[in-house]
Order: sequence, then structure tokens, then C-alpha cells
Amino acid sequence: MIDACSQESKPLLSIEDALGKIKASICSISDTEKLTLNDALGRVLAESVHSPLNIPHDRNAAMDGYAFAGGDIVCGHAFTLSVVGTSWAGHPFQGQLHSGECVRIFTGAVVPACADSVIMQEHVQVHGRNIHFPADTRALQNIRGIGEDVKQGDCLVAQAKKLTAVDLGLIASAGIDQVTVKRRLKIAHFSTGDELTALGLQLEPGKIYDSNRTMLSGFLADPGHNVVDLGIIPDHKQLLEDSFMEASKNYDAVITTGGASVGDADYIKEILQNCGEVNFWKIAIKPGKPLAFGKIGDCYFFGLPGNPVAVVVTFQQIVAPALQQLSGAVFTKPLRFTATCTSTLKKSPGRQDYQRGILSQDERGEFFVASAGQQGSHLLSSMSQSDCYIVLPEECKGIQAGDKVIVEPFSLRIE
Ligand code: AMP
Ligand code: MG
Repeated sequence: MIDACSQESKPLLSIEDALGKIKASICSISDTEKLTLNDALGRVLAESVHSPLNIPHDRNAAMDGYAFAGGDIVCGHAFTLSVVGTSWAGHPFQGQLHSGECVRIFTGAVVPACADSVIMQEHVQVHGRNIHFPADTRALQNIRGIGEDVKQGDCLVAQAKKLTAVDLGLIASAGIDQVTVKRRLKIAHFSTGDELTALGLQLEPGKIYDSNRTMLSGFLADPGHNVVDLGIIPDHKQLLEDSFMEASKNYDAVITTGGASVGDADYIKEILQNCGEVNFWKIAIKPGKPLAFGKIGDCYFFGLPGNPVAVVVTFQQIVAPALQQLSGAVFTKPLRFTATCTSTLKKSPGRQDYQRGILSQDERGEFFVASAGQQGSHLLSSMSQSDCYIVLPEECKGIQAGDKVIVEPFSLRIE
């Protein structure tokens, strides 16, 4: 099959340039809201959070054992100290520790003022109140220092971070129960095409079920998004234009699939041009060349191709980073690494190819990738079976089994 790219009159925009244009043209939302930590998972932090406390707040024991003063160590000899009390986690020892004495202590318990060392309970011998310390006992061990994790005033989490469970745990450890985050993005999406049938309806001749909307709903599911599914709009210019105009008034971003190419029933780019402005239209990636990105009023518009695999690739490579930028989050890149390809891959030069692959790792930790099968942009089954993209650069003319390739995993776990 001839790659349609070779018939283009002017060079296509590279994916790097497309992402550059997105970065340069999308203004992050500025509205914020205050949320309790339990509601803040996955939200974009609008203001950096600083610690009002030293963490740890007190010197405390790193293990169960006995706290003592290093001055009581008898250099090179075993020695005995008398246990005079206990420091429990949450219930510090209240007495005074003197020379020749030690305190029973448990992990996380406050170390008594005069002690500077903790010995593991497994290393001592206990005879009633007498605790026998071995000759190799060292001072200044097993104590967690004040502010060792975080100093009072330190930045706990910087603004623009999408909050993870660990971030929230860190903020909680400083006793902070609320954070200021960016408001949710308002996003609408719809499918376009006369052939599309919604799920649950009878399939008439020549029609297909609309799979793109279901996929997009899944891709867009995010704690930082309010997503509205606007259904299926037929290939009718006026109806499409009305839908565009209406959506542009109510949402921060609108995503459509289908009708973005150059067929007689492909109106998306033309409407975007008439009602707003087109930033770019065609990019040098496969699948997914026709992708109309622009703006109507204050609303960003993404007209994705219709073929389902092209929807997945363009969403992940272009729309997801764009939404990240719009949400005010740090602009991140996907994790990529090198693997040995075990399949022969066909590729014509001109576009960056996102072939679907299946990763494996041998016992030495080396990565291998096999083609997930047929690569047509209408073939969702091989996309579903794959766990990574094999990213082939524009100039690549094909891959022989045994060649090194760049892979981009969909998740950090493989089967
Ligand atoms: P288009 O970009 O409108 O020319 O569509 C390209 C291909 O994608 C055609 O085979 C369409 O039938 C198919 N397609 C378009 N929209 C969808 C959709 N929502 N779900 C599944 N396939 C679609
Ligand atoms: Mg169509």
C-alpha cells in the first residue's frame, strides 16, 4: 500500500513540533479550589505546600531495643546497664536517665533526653533489670534525627504536581489537612459519522458501533476532569458547526473523533477554520495523521481521526499532554527505553510510527519486544493485546528481527 504521506504537498508537522506548539499555545487554567486531602488524589497542586514542622518532630528509635548514653560504653569490653523504664511509641519515658542506666524503647518512641544511642534488642542479654551490652556496641546508632526527613519550612510538594497517594501521605505527615488545587477541567467529547450506532441499538446495514466514545470516556476518566459525553453527531455540516459552537461556550476542551481528514464528508477542519482558528492539522505520525488542533473562543479543540487505533495514538501522544498543560500540571514525557525487536516490522519513511508491541524481559533483565500482530489503524484487537508502542522514527525504513528499537510501555507492569 502507498503511504498517503508520500503524496503530501507540504511536509507534515513532526510530533515534536506539534507538542511544542501545544506547549506554546495552551494557557493553563487559573481557577483553584481548596480540598481536604482525601479528595485531592490525582488533582493538580496549585500552590506549593511547605512544612510547618520538622519531620521527625522528635528524636525517636529506629528499632525495638534499649536507649542509652554513648558515654557509658566501655571501649572494647562488654558492659552492663540497669533498665529504669520504658519509652513506648506515643508514651515517652517520663523519668531522668543517669549514667549506668538505660531505657527499654520501641520503634518510633521518643529517645530520652540524655540518651544518644539505641541498641537492637537482639544484641543484648537481659537478666532481670540488668542489660548486658556486647563489646562491639557503638554509640549514636538507630536514632532518627529531628528534621531528618523534612525540615520546618521545607517544600513538601511543589505546585503543578499531580498529587499521588505518597504526596498526600507526606503532606499529612506535616499535619496539613487541606491543599489548594486547580479546578477540574471541563471536557466534552463526541463522535462524528453517519455510520455510527450507539451501543444498545440494532445495527442497520452499513453501520458500525461507536467504539471511540467508549474509549475516550475511559481515557478521560481522571480525578481532575469533569467529562461530558455529547453522543454521536452525523456528518452534517450545520449540525456539526452548531455542536462545535455550543460546546465551545461550555467547556475548556472539546474532543471529537472522525471526519478530520479530506473526504467529502470530513468537515471538522473546515468548521474549526470557520468558527475559530486551526493551530495545526496534519502531523507526521502513523496512525493518526489528520488531527485538527485549534481554538474556538476560549475552548481548545481536538479533532481526532476516526479509526480507533489512530484515536488511541493521537489521544495518548497529543491530547493527553495538551490536557496536562491545560490543567496546570507539569508537562511530562512518556517513559521510553530500548528493547530488542523479535519481529520484522514494515515501515515506510516519512512519519513516526507507533506500532503495537508486546514486551518481555529475560532473567538478566534484557527487554525484548514482539509485534502485536497486524498494524492497521482500524484493528483494535491487536491494540488491546499490546502492552507498548514500538516507536519508529520518521526516517526508519523497516526493522529486522534482532534490531534495537525504542519502546514506550503502557504501564510499568507486564504479563
Ligand atoms: P473518518 O475519519 O471519519 O474518515 O473515519 C475513519 C474510519 O474510522 C472509518 O472506517 C470510520 O467508520 C471509523 N470510525 C469513525 N468514527 C468511529 C467511531 N466512533 N467508532 C468506531 N469507528 C469509527
Ligand atoms: Mg467519517
